[in-house]
Amino acid sequence: ADCDADSTAAGHVSLVGAGPGDPGLLTLKGLRVLQEADVVIHDRLASAGVLELARRDAERIDVGKRPGAGTSQDAINALLVEHARRGRRVVRLKGGDPFIFGRGGEEIDALRAAGISFDVVPGITAAVAASASAAIPLTDRRHVHAVRLITGNDAEILDAFDFSDVAAGRETLAVYMGVAQLPALRARLLAAGVTPAMPVALIENASRAEQRVVATTAASLVAAADAHHVASPAIALVGSVAVNQTRST
Ligand code: SAH
Repeated sequence: ADCDADSTAAGHVSLVGAGPGDPGLLTLKGLRVLQEADVVIHDRLASAGVLELARRDAERIDVGKRPGAGTSQDAINALLVEHARRGRRVVRLKGGDPFIFGRGGEEIDALRAAGISFDVVPGITAAVAASASAAIPLTDRRHVHAVRLITGNDAEILDAFDFSDVAAGRETLAVYMGVAQLPALRARLLAAGVTPAMPVALIENASRAEQRVVATTAASLVAAADAHHVASPAIALVGSVAVNQTRST
């Protein structure tokens, strides 16, 4: 229950997961909260189709971050606090799920510190959306026993991961934000003993009209991404389950 739903005088912030882009993948709760919002503070990844579902008179603020541009996280946190303090119902609309590589943790810390009430509405995260649209069952028990969501945007962080369960064929990897670091990912996988033929699916724009699925292998993933000009937002699914695509480019 939303105990703060009608205390508008105090203001309230809902972190809402917008899902991967297809408005049909927003939750009913997310839709309801979005339609009650006075102001919607959204990312670049929150699709136009989802934003259209907000009230016509709601203020929309784009804080979309791209490398070297957009609004800083501190400025976003300050915006959330400022609008809530004006007594407004604020939706912080975030791509996918707010707490999966979404900086939702930093935002609720700022809200807590400012004494602002908040709630969190989950969303379908990119790994789950990509799994569905490429028909890749992430934890198919005939193959694997775990799935791990990792960030691929930093070569040093990639270096610190243990890929032995992927090499042993026990685990599926979902690599977020990895497009720029695919050479590092490839090197790390192969160095960890992952077989060069290990299936990899690169899913760009999962759930959107422009979705593409590139089926490749650990050894060929950089060449395949280059050949198909795979660009952000894209996710890499790595593991023996990553072979069963219903669609391809
Ligand atoms: N909170 C988001 C992730 C934010 S990090 C979520 O839960 O999905 C941004 C990364 O998410 C992108 O670099 C990409 O790896 C992935 N991503 C987000 N939307 C995507 C989409 N529609 N298709 C493929 N990958 C996506």
